[in-house]
Amino acid sequence: MKIAVLGAGVIGVTAAWYLRQSGHDVTVVDRQATPAAETSFANGGQISVSHAEPWANPSAPLKVLKWLAKEDAPLLFRLRADLRQWLWTLEFLRECTPERTRRNIERIVRLGTYSRETLQQLRRDIGIDYDQRTQGILHFYTSQKELEAAEAPAAQMRALGCDRRLITADEAVRIEPALRHIRPRLAGATYTSEDESGDANRFARELVEHCQADGVRFLMSHTVTALRAAGGRLEHVEATDSEGRFQFLRADAYVIALGSWSPIYTGPLGIRLPIYPAKGYSVTMPVRDPTKAYEVSLTDDEYKLVFSRLGDRLRIAGTAELNGYDRDLNRVRCEAIVRHTEDLFPGAGDTERAQFWTGLRPATPSNVPIIGRSKLPNLYLNTGHGTLGWTHACGSGKSLARIISGLKPEVDFPFRMA
Ligand SMILES: Cc1cc2nc3c(=O)[nH]c(=O)nc-3n(C[C@H](O)[C@H](O)[C@H](O)COP(=O)(O)OP(=O)(O)OC[C@H]3O[C@@H](n4cnc5c(N)ncnc54)[C@H](O)[C@@H]3O)c2cc1C
Repeated sequence: MKIAVLGAGVIGVTAAWYLRQSGHDVTVVDRQATPAAETSFANGGQISVSHAEPWANPSAPLKVLKWLAKEDAPLLFRLRADLRQWLWTLEFLRECTPERTRRNIERIVRLGTYSRETLQQLRRDIGIDYDQRTQGILHFYTSQKELEAAEAPAAQMRALGCDRRLITADEAVRIEPALRHIRPRLAGATYTSEDESGDANRFARELVEHCQADGVRFLMSHTVTALRAAGGRLEHVEATDSEGRFQFLRADAYVIALGSWSPIYTGPLGIRLPIYPAKGYSVTMPVRDPTKAYEVSLTDDEYKLVFSRLGDRLRIAGTAELNGYDRDLNRVRCEAIVRHTEDLFPGAGDTERAQFWTGLRPATPSNVPIIGRSKLPNLYLNTGHGTLGWTHACGSGKSLARIISGLKPEVDFPFRMA
């Protein structure tokens, strides 16, 4: 089958790879000159099955209210005259019940575990290198209350096969000695030894090379302008190339992997996707003193920040701001991240050479991505991966390739089969 994948972020590229492996003739289209240049550019780097607790959980409504209008809040709703944002917020509140939270954790863990295994298999198959580390992920807590709140979700994850176990502060420092500076403040931690980390941007660029060597075409600097349906099917895609020339793209099947921009293009076809951009920040800086820098990927659940070691760089990422498609860098937020990192790991990173970045997570109210068939039988969805697109990329791509090829996905997940 001739398949057009719209979007060359980590989700589109992995889907293209697995579609090609399934024998399809694949073309990928993206408005950027290089792959993974938008949300997949400088994320937190975690392959984190253990990060399965969605933003929407029973404690969220109160926290979000407390954080309203706090410039450096971990999750900031900037409510605006935007119907999509209000609808999303209402759906988000609906997902905060204990039952929905449990159900969403289950879905996120199942897809995450499958995806991590799929990524490991891919590494064995093609030897792809992307500054990966396989030393696990450690969530640390300086508040006893937050540590206790992590116990129930961790127990649920363990019951689902994700070995996120509670450890003492001393064990945490043994696993990651760079935490010694804050040892007196540590209440405890959880550790998931099977989790991993790595550079999603480098992974996507390397995988593009493998795809190209295998015959996948990439139409970069091509902006999709509209999807056109006729006779109950997607008939063609309209795009402009780098010189503004109009193009009609035709295929037997199409995959939407446009991240936060997906709903803008499916909306006119009557396909409403509950995806809203959640702006996040990251800071990348060279390691200054390796004896003080962390190697194990870490999560500070209270500040909602993740820390990954990518070769000789430190990546720190987090915070979420619901404020439309604005990608402006807010100095207050950038400085808060650097200050917090220095407080935890003084002298570890070269703060003067810190690079700042923002990206728009394609967030669904439940944190569960949308994968499968749309109501148009030749239009497929692989989007809405929110906080965990890097973690879920390989599992989503392989599952979608199986669905398009008429095979059953290998993981128990609510794939759309409309
Ligand atoms: C601060 C931050 C930290 C994060 N940390 C982690 C983490 O540690 N672990 C994890 O698993 N996930 C993490 N994520 C989430 C992860 O980065 C995203 O879920 C993932 O990158 C989404 O990938 P995507 O391919 O769907 O979107 P994108 O990477 O945005 O790809 C969409 C592509 O579509 C293209 N596009 C859009 N519109 C058009 C158009 N009209 N025409 C042509 N092309 C178009 C864009 O150019 C882009 O390349 C983080 C995100 C952020 C922001």
